[in-house]
Amino acid sequence: MSDCLFCKIAAGEIPAKVIFEDEDVIAFHDIHPVAPVHFLLLPKVHIDSLAHATAQHQALLGKMMLLTSKLAAEQGLSDGYRTIINTGHGGGQTFFHLHIHIIGGKPLSTNISEISTQ
Ligand code: AMP
Ligand code: ZN
Repeated sequence: MSDCLFCKIAAGEIPAKVIFEDEDVIAFHDIHPVAPVHFLLLPKVHIDSLAHATAQHQALLGKMMLLTSKLAAEQGLSDGYRTIINTGHGGGQTFFHLHIHIIGGKPLSTNISEISTQ
């Protein structure tokens, strides 16, 4: 996926404020944060969206889910955090390389309707 921004960030070709990286995943601060802490966690391998993940990605996805709490704690989100995965155009996805938003550091709505519209 040579034209994928997140592949280029994962490859180190485009700079980002990286907070964690290993052979499988990378996490970096969102360029347009919606809260005091807002970072993205994504696989280095290109997967268009969650809807494009397959059984071969099961361990990778599990690793990413478990990493959210470790990275959130390291970013000071001891009181909790929100994870969002936008999937497809209808799900509000704008960058088509699967990523988890990890958001926190301010009170977040408990009302799902407040994050379910534009
Ligand atoms: P989504 O709408 O779920 O596809 O989210 C894409 C996210 O990527 C948005 O929150 C953008 O602010 C973020 N983003 C776009 N370009 C960059 C970049 N160069 N570095 C960090 N985050 C970015
Ligand atoms: Zn990609």
